[in-house]
Amino acid sequence: MNAPVIEVGILSAPSISFKLNGRFISSTGEEIANEERTVTLSDVKDTLEFAPLDPDTASFELFHVVIGVQFHWEREETQRFNGKLKLFVEGDKITAVNILLVEDYLLSVISSEMSATSSLELLKAHSVISRSWLLAQIEKCRDVARRVSTEEYKTLIKTDEGYIRWYDREDHTHFDVCADDHCQRYQGITRITAPQVAEALKATSGQVLTYNGKVCDARFYKSCGGITESFENVWEPVKHPYLTQVIDNEAVPAGYDTDLTNEEHARKWILSNPPAYCNTHDTKVLSQVLNDYDRETQDFYRWEVKLTQAEIKDLLFRKLGIDVGDVLDLIPVERGVSGRLIRLKIVGSKSTIIIGKELEIRKALSESHLYSSAFVVEKEGDAFALKGAGWGHGVGLCQIGAAIMASKGIAYQDILTHYFPNAELEKIY
Ligand SMILES: [Zn+2]
Ligand SMILES: [Zn+2]
Repeated sequence: MNAPVIEVGILSAPSISFKLNGRFISSTGEEIANEERTVTLSDVKDTLEFAPLDPDTASFELFHVVIGVQFHWEREETQRFNGKLKLFVEGDKITAVNILLVEDYLLSVISSEMSATSSLELLKAHSVISRSWLLAQIEKCRDVARRVSTEEYKTLIKTDEGYIRWYDREDHTHFDVCADDHCQRYQGITRITAPQVAEALKATSGQVLTYNGKVCDARFYKSCGGITESFENVWEPVKHPYLTQVIDNEAVPAGYDTDLTNEEHARKWILSNPPAYCNTHDTKVLSQVLNDYDRETQDFYRWEVKLTQAEIKDLLFRKLGIDVGDVLDLIPVERGVSGRLIRLKIVGSKSTIIIGKELEIRKALSESHLYSSAFVVEKEGDAFALKGAGWGHGVGLCQIGAAIMASKGIAYQDILTHYFPNAELEKIY
């Protein structure tokens, strides 16, 4: 297999302005060097492509790229890219896509995701899972695109008593990934890339995790809370034997039953402080994984959030558009293997509703979202205390746990085997 390329959707607008630095050839056969252009709908019939003639030195700049969409700091900037520029018409807009080598794309995204102080073994582990995730997504998107005409890719199940929703990758059909947080934030070569990331990518070049000959859908998040979650409890009901329960420790912590689908066991686990790789306050290691470490919390392994009845009522109304009346109780209905809630019953004075899966629960009970859905509820007068564990969906690699493992001198292959049981490390290009 040759080193694969990826198509990244950068922006959509009625017209696209860009500058080609170096020599390019367009799909209409025109040779262009060092030129600034604005392309409107009438210029792009179907698609228009600009390929660099000297790929090592040429780059292009896109103007007015909107970043921080939906954040209060949303702004426009100019971004620079390697590889090809593809423009195509979608409705009454032109979409600009960057086509580049997967390894170049990974260098950019891992450099902005990880701190420059990260250890090499951690960066190697991350290189393998980011590469695996990406190639698996490309495959999955093309699958979904193929299926779309006959059968809808479902992410919402409505029943009489509520709805169960998950958020995944159903919405890109004309390119592989977008440049936003929805997929992975990608800002071209505008930002400086880290030499350690380049080293880690080179050392693991073409290596991916596979299961049964297929590239693994390798996922990651900040902290599992001591035990990792199964894929099907967070996303669509498909079992992946390499995304299953893992005790994030050298051994099963003494005195616990780790079947956390059981409410009593989950309660004991979440309300105590069992040992785990990600149960740490090691600031040196944490600053490797948390890019904005100074501004982030240190209470991620075990955390607590208090909400009044009125606050929950308001959140449910604004975020889910449901009015249950006064919120009387929050009752766990179903938990996954890490203790994360899959279904939560909200008992109100007007109606009772069940919501899920984990991200929907996290969004419904917080202005942004809760650290995780692994929490227990304690009533305190007219307020609810949510006492929780971990940060993120909990499926796959625990970034903080992996950083601790790497700091103990554990090799990246062993870190990957720990978080992705049953998966194999394979070099596919
Ligand atoms: Zn996306
Ligand atoms: Zn962990």
